Amino acid sequence: MQGRIIKAISGFFYVECNGNTYECKAKGIFRKKEETPVVGDIVEFDEINEKEGNVISIGERKNILVRPPISNIDIVIIVAAIKIPAISTLFIDKQLAYLRNKGIDCIICINKSDLGEANDIVDIYRNIGYDVVLTSAKDDTGVDVLKEKIVGKTAVFVGNSGVGKSSLTNKLLKTKVMEEGDLSKIERGKQTTRHTELLKISDNTYIADSPGFSSFELGEIDDIASLFVEFNEYIGECKYRDCRHIKEDDCAIKKALAEGKISKSRYDNFCLLANKQ
Ligand code: GDP
Ligand code: ZN
Repeated sequence: MQGRIIKAISGFFYVECNGNTYECKAKGIFRKKEETPVVGDIVEFDEINEKEGNVISIGERKNILVRPPISNIDIVIIVAAIKIPAISTLFIDKQLAYLRNKGIDCIICINKSDLGEANDIVDIYRNIGYDVVLTSAKDDTGVDVLKEKIVGKTAVFVGNSGVGKSSLTNKLLKTKVMEEGDLSKIERGKQTTRHTELLKISDNTYIADSPGFSSFELGEIDDIASLFVEFNEYIGECKYRDCRHIKEDDCAIKKALAEGKISKSRYDNFCLLANKQ
């Protein structure tokens, strides 16, 4: 039988198949291959009874994120808030670069639109081709638009603490399944350990719920400039073939910046990320 792992807790994998959820173990074959099933995997499993089974093989993964482990993601929603906390374009640019490197689609969601506007920032991203949705989990603005963008997909929210990921998830689910924000969570210092789980919004539409998705680390990437989508048309036109687009003269990227074709905020964030490498 074939199903999808929607939850993994201490050695058990919960496999959804034909509206049923089977509690499965992964048999020894995986240990030998050093392969572990993760949430999101499409797996073959043997049915023991209508509640239990054994995972026997993992289908090819379209993509995988490591911390926390989840596979076969269709879209990542990068969430920022108009205020509280203030929008960090560095955070957004870092996630955009990471996801572009992984080849995972994404959209930007600016939440808390009831608290003000951020037209300048919205324009920066729309001008370079990213899809930006404005939402308010408080008064429901844009929640339907967001929902339309993820229909039929497996979506993951990423964003700093407090931007409204749990609130938006709850809105999408229309039932309050998670603790929202709030003092209890902050006062405890750390979020209580929760597992990663795919929450079903409708048929074939899932939202990954995991405390680990606050940010992705860029790690070792050689060519960050190529991950800044609007830089691509200039790369190759610099004087030096190995131009890093930071201190070099006759740099096509810096020229585009000076001519206002590349936004200063994007360029500054590129420098910050490139200098960390
Ligand atoms: P998370 O840490 O990203 O999951 O953020 P939460 O969903 O826990 O939200 C953090 C705080 O912001 C909570 O107090 C929410 O009630 C509040 N909040 C979330 N979305 C909105 C919004 O659209 N507008 C306003 N004004 N507050 C919001
Ligand atoms: Zn250059």
